[in-house]
Amino acid sequence: MGKFPYFTEVHDEIREIAKGAAEACKKTAVEADRKHDYNIVKKNLKRLAELNLIGIHIPTEYGGEGLDFVGHCVALEEISKGCLSTAFSFNTQRLAMDAIRLGGNDAQKKKYLIPACAGSIVSFATTEPEAGSDVASMKTTAVKDGGSWVINGSKHYITNAMIADANVLVAKTSAPDAPKLEFTAFIVDSDNPGIKMSKVESKMGATASPTTEYFLENCRVNEDAVLGKVGAGMPLALSALEIARIGIGTQGLGLMQVALEQAIAYAKERVQFGKPIIKNQAIQFHIANMSSRVEIARNLLYHAAWLKDQGLPAGKEAAIAKLYATEECTWVCNMAMNILCGPGYTTDYPIERYFRDAKVLEMGGGTSEIMRIIISREEVGKI
Ligand SMILES: Cc1cc2nc3c(=O)[nH]c(=O)nc-3n(C[C@H](O)[C@H](O)[C@H](O)COP(=O)(O)OP(=O)(O)OC[C@H]3O[C@@H](n4cnc5c(N)ncnc54)[C@H](O)[C@@H]3O)c2cc1C
Repeated sequence: MGKFPYFTEVHDEIREIAKGAAEACKKTAVEADRKHDYNIVKKNLKRLAELNLIGIHIPTEYGGEGLDFVGHCVALEEISKGCLSTAFSFNTQRLAMDAIRLGGNDAQKKKYLIPACAGSIVSFATTEPEAGSDVASMKTTAVKDGGSWVINGSKHYITNAMIADANVLVAKTSAPDAPKLEFTAFIVDSDNPGIKMSKVESKMGATASPTTEYFLENCRVNEDAVLGKVGAGMPLALSALEIARIGIGTQGLGLMQVALEQAIAYAKERVQFGKPIIKNQAIQFHIANMSSRVEIARNLLYHAAWLKDQGLPAGKEAAIAKLYATEECTWVCNMAMNILCGPGYTTDYPIERYFRDAKVLEMGGGTSEIMRIIISREEVGKI
């Protein structure tokens, strides 16, 4: 691993610390999954903060480590091997922090990033019941009223909102009759009386990462809640989401790596027709196909993360890496299930959990179809 071109000794150190944290997360992963217990994830996030893993690529003056995004991905890859619910919440926390890092002024960064690096939680919301992939169709509005803004609407499927101390959200700020739609990002403290959390969704996978709908009812915030420039909320959200996509793919990388390891270990032990099943070339070929996908995903993801660190355009690369890593993660988990077969389908082994956890990675941060649209748009633009 050390020879991989994107990794330095610092990344090796991060990996070692994250491996220890992942082992601890692994011990409670089954309980967290079965009980849908987001308090376990909350505790895990606090532990990651204590280990200085939350703010790896946040500047030191805002409480972070001042390192790079590759470093975040290294930590995230390891945590994904221990508990995908924790990794999913960890990466969403970083998404919200990136929106503040990219759009916030000095006072906002001090107010929100320093506590966030230390374990206070921030959520990020664009999605609404009528605005999923088509983010611009959102109905939530923010209207200027003297020195403050009044926000009305709702957000749904929002990771971490239930356990958040503050919430980054995007609202429509153009007048109803304006010729052009305009959106603005805001940061709303969870103790604002105008924000009301609904229930936590019951999900197929990543069950302990809380996903919530919330309502904004005459939610009044001051001018200093505006993140970035008024009217510039959409490009800010899309920039943060582009980085988050690499993180979502990285979770797929961690998950498919452990699924592969479990499949190999099982195939070496399971004897059928008088020999371990690993001795069948058919099984060896499955392992080779799984391993190839893991390695391709690793290269795509760390290349995209490295491009981001260099400040180079990475829109297409991030979309390709996310698309490939998440779809192939589902494929690898399915293949691991085939190799374990009956036992893999039971809760005696973690494969059924990996299988359930994998699917959401294809959806969050933009679906596979949206990734294909981004990629083809770039390619077609070149013709
Ligand atoms: C567990 C979980 C956590 C989430 N966390 C967050 C969060 O923290 N913050 C947040 O803002 N959102 C979050 N989301 C929302 C997520 O980003 C959306 O679910 C996703 O963007 C898709 O929106 P949708 O589910 O409404 O699907 P839709 O947009 O309704 O799409 C339905 C289907 O149509 C396809 N489709 C749509 N438009 C096109 C098109 N033009 N061309 C081809 N196909 C198309 C889609 O790919 C999909 O297959 C979360 C979702 C889940 C499941």
